Amino acid sequence: MMNPRRNLPIAISLLLPENAPSRWGDSVARAGQLLQPAWPVDPSHLTALAYIVYSTASSDRRAPAEVSPSDVLEAIGAAVDAPDSLAQSIKQSLIEAGHEDDFVGRQFSKLSALEYFEEFDDFSCTPPGPSLLARALPRLAIHLESIRAEELPPGPAPAGPFSLSISGLVHVVGRYGSMRGTFVLRCEVCQESKKSLITVRGPDVVIACNAGHVHRSPHLSAVHVRRAAAAHGQLALLAEATASNPVESISVKGDLEVAVPSMPEDADPTTVMPWAAANRA
Ligand SMILES: [Zn+2]
Repeated sequence: MMNPRRNLPIAISLLLPENAPSRWGDSVARAGQLLQPAWPVDPSHLTALAYIVYSTASSDRRAPAEVSPSDVLEAIGAAVDAPDSLAQSIKQSLIEAGHEDDFVGRQFSKLSALEYFEEFDDFSCTPPGPSLLARALPRLAIHLESIRAEELPPGPAPAGPFSLSISGLVHVVGRYGSMRGTFVLRCEVCQESKKSLITVRGPDVVIACNAGHVHRSPHLSAVHVRRAAAAHGQLALLAEATASNPVESISVKGDLEVAVPSMPEDADPTTVMPWAAANRA
């Protein structure tokens, strides 16, 4: 089965919350266009490139679409020995732009994930490697040196929203120490657990119970809901969804198993132990 995270339109959509300002949307689009010839790569490279495009466009007062590979290479060259300073200037750009607090808060936590180390398990004595940002910079540099931006086609549109209509229960699957554990998702208002509707828009997930109470659940992430839908054989349908052609409702007969947000992106809660999935990457 194709790994859903390797799809560039999906990776782009995961960077675009509903309240994203246009400058951020344009930066993600430019990053997608520049990285398209190298795809598939680690999705964190796309995130890092989008931040560099955003920060460069902000400091030079230019449109993100005008940021060239050589502009990005210049920023990478200045940061390759000091990725912390790059992260700092990206944060400064986000603060100075005057975006909504909610958007800036989400970007800061995403940026923090890039600055920290790649996931490592609780029981490993191996010291963590370089941060995702530090790993991305030299790889992005090699790629950007090899392309001519003026010859690139437009990047792909982000993957569109979709809904899953589940006739049974939603089981949330997690790893607790070395144990696999599950619990049933219930409505926060009426405790109903059957016949829910989960809607994914970019990185945002909302769940509606059978009585129509709608809320965001901290136990659901867009990437894992997509993974769960794929496990139900709906990947081809999801791949066709675009912003202008959303998949209105995918019917899931019976129960749906979804991995908790902290699990690896490609963890399949239906067939593998989370422990094995975490160590497979
Ligand atoms: Zn309810």
